Amino acid sequence: MQKRTKIVATVGPSSDSVEVLSQMILSGVNVFRLNFSHGTHDYHSKVLANIRSSMNKTGLIVGVLQDISGPKIRIGALREEFHLHPKDRLDFYRDPIEGERIGEHHYTVSINENSILDLLNVGDSIYLHDGNIRARIVSCEDRFVQAEIENNGKLNSRKGINFPNTRLGIDILTAKDQEDMAWGVANGVDFMAISFVQNGLDMIRAREIVRSLGGEVQLFAKIEKFDAVENIDDILEHSDGLMVARGDLGIEVPYYQVPTIQKMLIRKANERSKPVITATQMLLSMTQNETATRAEISDVANAVLDGTDAVMLSEESAVGDNPILVVETMVNTIQSIEEIYPFDKFAEFRPHDPMDIINESAVRLGDALHAVGIIAMTTSGQSAKKLARYRPEMTIYAATHDERVARLLTLVWGVIPAYLTKKAKLEEMLSDIISRGLARNIIDKTQTYIFTAGDPVGVQGTTNLIRILREHEISFFGTSKVSSSKSKKVHEIIPSLF
Ligand code: PGA
Ligand code: MN
Repeated sequence: MQKRTKIVATVGPSSDSVEVLSQMILSGVNVFRLNFSHGTHDYHSKVLANIRSSMNKTGLIVGVLQDISGPKIRIGALREEFHLHPKDRLDFYRDPIEGERIGEHHYTVSINENSILDLLNVGDSIYLHDGNIRARIVSCEDRFVQAEIENNGKLNSRKGINFPNTRLGIDILTAKDQEDMAWGVANGVDFMAISFVQNGLDMIRAREIVRSLGGEVQLFAKIEKFDAVENIDDILEHSDGLMVARGDLGIEVPYYQVPTIQKMLIRKANERSKPVITATQMLLSMTQNETATRAEISDVANAVLDGTDAVMLSEESAVGDNPILVVETMVNTIQSIEEIYPFDKFAEFRPHDPMDIINESAVRLGDALHAVGIIAMTTSGQSAKKLARYRPEMTIYAATHDERVARLLTLVWGVIPAYLTKKAKLEEMLSDIISRGLARNIIDKTQTYIFTAGDPVGVQGTTNLIRILREHEISFFGTSKVSSSKSKKVHEIIPSLF
């Protein structure tokens, strides 16, 4: 059985060769993530070239997601490791000092974004080292802000800091991020994920940067800050999709709220037909082990049931011992849980526009006729996303003229993207799709399919035609009677496998 939920896999030293990448694609990866918190532009250029070779080698489409690292706030260097205990004092200095122990139960540090210290108030929390050390501010002085430690923990140089109840209001796109985004546009990445987004304005700024670079990239907001959760409607409005970035999110909000927030974010993204990725620690123990824990398997399965478009691998595929095995584990888990998937979510979503009504009707018609697939001609990819919103049991085949649109649909639940290299009249293209689908055993002529398109072709957002394809129609169009000899040579459909 083919899986519907997509897989994003982070590429790193364990997986950056053409051999491993190709195996991962054949095993079920739909999108590769390049993590710009690590690696040089040279390294990522080599990885991208290898991904493209793997696409050619396997004949399958995958997308590329560039993860922009954003303003990770860190402490400076420490002279020695700090062994902190409750009631110890930790002074955060504005000057770039080297942190040290200055007395019994008393330590100093600096931070890389010292302007943040001005925003803090007595009583605010500061979390250090992925939330392992918690502290609360007890006084704000001219040269430093003093915090009281609340638990036992060890602190080393340059560990991350989170401010779980301070609105930082900083420009989240650093100079490095902007250079990385220029690389992404120049190299034609399909998606960019923006880290530590605070509000809709951050996404507007990110889009302005991409536009000024002359690029067209799908922008995903990583939801990993407490204020991003509060501002989610505004963020979603200005994003092409979301990532539930549970690693940092679980530090910024109480850990026990992560599952609730995950469900809320997925639902809101589904409602707006925007793809959502559930990320971080999904099969983490497989970084070293050959089998995942039962809890990790359940986590993947439950994200699928929540309605996520994609599940993501981080360290597991980037630096883990078993990048292919971890993909296989994810595929097996997805396939198994999709056997009890709650398809046809008509009741959950109200239509926002005529496109929603047309696509809902196509799904209902297909269901009523026991169709096995919907073939959607799409110019922008939007109609395929809107079909996917209802989570139909039928497979969604999205045929497009634009290779870039085919790649952006790699992330959308249940959609098999295909592209045709040349525009033609609608009937010619239908004929081409059917003959190629038959030749590749993707279309079964004894079954029923629904075909949706906008006629005339090539205009965005104009789905105005729903056609039923049964054996008679499939045979008619499949014999290429209507296909011109000229178009036959140049049209090509390359579906992704899953
Ligand atoms: P990161 O983002 O891996 O870039 O930190 C994901 C997360 O925080 O979960
Ligand atoms: Mn993060």
